[in-house]
Amino acid sequence: MHGNEQHIQDNQLVLWQCRVCSRRARVPVDTPRIFCACGYQQLNGVTPGLGDKVAAVLHKVGVTPQRYVAVKGALGLQKKCRCPERQEKLNNLFRDNK
Ligand SMILES: [Zn+2]
Repeated sequence: MHGNEQHIQDNQLVLWQCRVCSRRARVPVDTPRIFCACGYQQLNGVTPGLGDKVAAVLHKVGVTPQRYVAVKGALGLQKKCRCPERQEKLNNLFRDNK
């Protein structure tokens, strides 16, 4: 192990499992975010943050950002979803201080 942590694990893959559909995928350990085929996005990288866990639960019960936006559009509201933003905020809130 050398001093530069950011480059040590560049090519290392980890087995990631989607919290929503249980799909497994090999992803780079340092990937910033994971986009699953089921539509779930893990914004905290390979380790889910609190926001990701909340998003996964919402996703499981059918509240996807896409659907949320569609519902708002149908109601004549602004077609904008702040889910990823909230997801990331929650992640950052509980991220370990380095
Ligand atoms: Zn999935």
